[in-house]
Amino acid sequence: MKIRTYIQKRLIFFISLLLIGGAIYQVLIFGVENKNSLLGTSLGVISGILVLSGLVGYFIFIKCPKCHKRFGNILSYMSITSTTGERGIKHCPFCGVNFDEQL
Ligand SMILES: [Zn+2]
Repeated sequence: MKIRTYIQKRLIFFISLLLIGGAIYQVLIFGVENKNSLLGTSLGVISGILVLSGLVGYFIFIKCPKCHKRFGNILSYMSITSTTGERGIKHCPFCGVNFDEQL
């Protein structure tokens, strides 16, 4: 597996957590009549946990697999995710490992 693919998989996982959490929150807002019921409270807690996990993971747990430094920058994620590698960055900004190398 390429390093780029590894980072993309983590990125997709944490963004999915964010989106699923957001979707559950929408169900709570528009679909649940009584927000203080057990269902309403559970949906609120679950969506909060998912959104928080997604955010924390996005900013903290996406690291370079070689030097373990956090990227922590949305713009660099976007350029890393370029699958063609033409527009995206090609090396880790910290240790210089090529993202198209095998893990
Ligand atoms: Zn690195």
